[in-house]
Amino acid sequence: MPELPEVETIARGLSRAVVGKTIDEAKVFLPKVVLPDPATFRAGVAGEHICTVGRRGKFVVFTFASGTRVAVHLRMTGRLLIRRADDNGTYPYENVRWLFSDGSLLSFADIRQFGRMRLIEPGQPWDEILGLEPLSRRFTRDRFSELLQGRTTPIKAFLLDQRRIAGIGNIYACEALWEARIRPTRAAGSLSRERRERLHAALQSVLRRAITMGGTSVDDYVNADGERGGFQNELSIYGQDGEACPRCSAAIVRTVIAQRGTWWCRSCQRS
Ligand SMILES: [Zn+2]
Repeated sequence: MPELPEVETIARGLSRAVVGKTIDEAKVFLPKVVLPDPATFRAGVAGEHICTVGRRGKFVVFTFASGTRVAVHLRMTGRLLIRRADDNGTYPYENVRWLFSDGSLLSFADIRQFGRMRLIEPGQPWDEILGLEPLSRRFTRDRFSELLQGRTTPIKAFLLDQRRIAGIGNIYACEALWEARIRPTRAAGSLSRERRERLHAALQSVLRRAITMGGTSVDDYVNADGERGGFQNELSIYGQDGEACPRCSAAIVRTVIAQRGTWWCRSCQRS
């Protein structure tokens, strides 16, 4: 599933490609993927001028001149792909298409059909349930420490909770915990001050490095131009069961925490 660095990469690519364009028409091929309903969605985007494309948590957010927004969650396999005016091909699993006034297109394709595009009226709140952005100025070491205070959930599960910190998923939670040398099952609130600070730094570092490399393509993630990321070649721990830990050479193990596969090193992530 695309996480913060992948969604950020997609949003930046889309921003370069579609800001300033006007949507003539939206075609909805699979009604369940647009919210609140296809008729409202089609009417809400038709004629709109795209002002910005950004990211909030794992959502790509289009903001139109009227103040209306469209928030897209790609879930497992959703893709937002830019297509040139002369691209008349049909895309497999294309669920929604925006036709721009210059003839170019944007396709929302999704083989698993879990991804959603949601129309948000001007001023309508939509992201209150999302927590802090981990690369924002508000995400300070002190604020992170406060969030952890008193929490008995395993730190790995805590990091995946979008209501606390938005955008981190399985890959970057595993990588940051390894980098900070913290056992993933450790109760979040039991981490020492020093470990909290190490984890805060590791989270920001791994997310920034992954953005620089255009995200991680361990599954079928591609950016808005259909290109794979590069961070899958830089992973230290995620998906590496049986391999040697790059820090201490012990065998990397995979266990399940909060229903998610978790890769870690029993030797150097001991506490
Ligand atoms: Zn190790």
